[in-house]
Amino acid sequence: MDLTLPVNTEEDVLKAVTAAYDTACQWNLDEAERAKAISAALDGAIRACRSKGSIELRRGNGDGMEVVVRTGDAPQVDPLTVWEEISKLLHESAAKGDALAKTRALLAGMESELDETNRGVMALYAELDDRADKLRKADDLKSRFLSYASHELRTPLNGIVGLVRLLRSSAVPRSAEDIKQLAFIQKAAEEMREMVNDLLDLAKVEAGKVTVQPSEFDLGFVFGALRGIFRPLLQSEDVTLIFEDTSAVPSIYSDEAKVSQILRNLLSNALKFTERGSVRVWAKAEGDTVRIVVSDTGIGIPENELPRIFEEFTQVENPLQRRVRGTGLGLPLCRKFAELLGGHLAVESKPGQGSAFTLILPRVYPVKRDRLLKGEARKPRTRATLLIVDDIEIDRYLLSHLITASGDYDIIQAEDGQAGLHAARRERPDLIFLDVNLPLMDGYAVASELGRDPATRDIPIFAITAEKLSQTDYDRLRSLTRGVILKENLSEAQRVNIDLASPAQVTLL
Ligand code: ADP
Repeated sequence: MDLTLPVNTEEDVLKAVTAAYDTACQWNLDEAERAKAISAALDGAIRACRSKGSIELRRGNGDGMEVVVRTGDAPQVDPLTVWEEISKLLHESAAKGDALAKTRALLAGMESELDETNRGVMALYAELDDRADKLRKADDLKSRFLSYASHELRTPLNGIVGLVRLLRSSAVPRSAEDIKQLAFIQKAAEEMREMVNDLLDLAKVEAGKVTVQPSEFDLGFVFGALRGIFRPLLQSEDVTLIFEDTSAVPSIYSDEAKVSQILRNLLSNALKFTERGSVRVWAKAEGDTVRIVVSDTGIGIPENELPRIFEEFTQVENPLQRRVRGTGLGLPLCRKFAELLGGHLAVESKPGQGSAFTLILPRVYPVKRDRLLKGEARKPRTRATLLIVDDIEIDRYLLSHLITASGDYDIIQAEDGQAGLHAARRERPDLIFLDVNLPLMDGYAVASELGRDPATRDIPIFAITAEKLSQTDYDRLRSLTRGVILKENLSEAQRVNIDLASPAQVTLL
């Protein structure tokens, strides 16, 4: 079949050549004939293009292709111009093809780079996960080690402190030198016990084992108690300790023992690092929060050290540091306690001018809101209730004293087993301390009665015993209670910490 093609532009020339090639292929011309056909088509098309004519592709007499040129009406153009245009076109399309190829290669490269990056990111994620896991484990291990070590250290330390106290108070006549040395031993042991207590507290906070015991209280009361502790300790007349009036500050609902511990620490630091001027404590309500500030006119802290002082075991190098004692654990603990209470602790300081530590606390510890929702708000003081069942009045007194040194509780007391059982059923306390040797009904009987009653069987019981028990009695008691406490250990304790989170825990400190 013959084919006629108009050739008006240089592009048509290229189209004509392509058509000649395609037709030669259709006619099954051999390679030499195909080449001849293309060359004739190109030549013919250029000539036709000069006057906007056409070409006809025909089957020749032999096996080849014949190209017939028909000139058009347009004025003839110089064949060189047509050829130049065509080569420009060819060049452009080649360049386009080149750019396309380059872009493709670039894209392919980017794709493989992306692939690699993706693989890298995945590997990084896996490594991060791994590291986070290791860090968690290390942190856990550190907390466990701290807690274990401090527990183990505390027992012999308590022994030393107790024995020195005994030696110092005994009627045996002693030389002045002995008395001096005993005082040194007692001071050193007490300092170490303080450090061990801080370590234990830190480890417990980190392990999430410290619970908040909120109650409603006046800051004025806390300030009063702190004044009582610190006024006698003022060593220099050059420093005044001022507690500002708190009557304008409404009562707050928080953990009084922890607030007091934070302020004790801040005050002790302020007094340690202030040689002249004043240490001032004030509080102010600000919306839903209360701001409590302990400021001093002491040596101050350089700006670059400010973030570090909240890290464990950090002490700032200064001339006073060597003269005062400390562990570098106080501030980290204060900050952790502040956060535990839903607040925060910040510091501002200028070397040579003094420091101001600011504790911001929510006026209502967040848990209370839950309680309000549950309609328990009418109870003016929502404190946990503890029951102490012991027939010895002094022991009941001692235990309640040790408990209130750590937190604010409603404490009910009962003198014998039966009264204890009734009180437990009536009051449903949050925890029971139960002496073993009791009149009317012993501790074993009370504990098993309470354990049988569905209304009381979830109340954690801690048995208290004056004597060491036989293994059988101990096992029996353990099966009925959450723990067994020796009275001997109680008499050495400074305070008794109660953690009511399930499972309940009692720690002698
Ligand atoms: P320490 O038991 O050593 O006092 P802290 O954690 O309570 O431990 O304090 C860490 C360090 O911060 C202190 O050793 C002291 O260098 C610095 N510091 C804390 N409070 C003050 C203050 N009021 N004035 C100056 N420096 C302070």
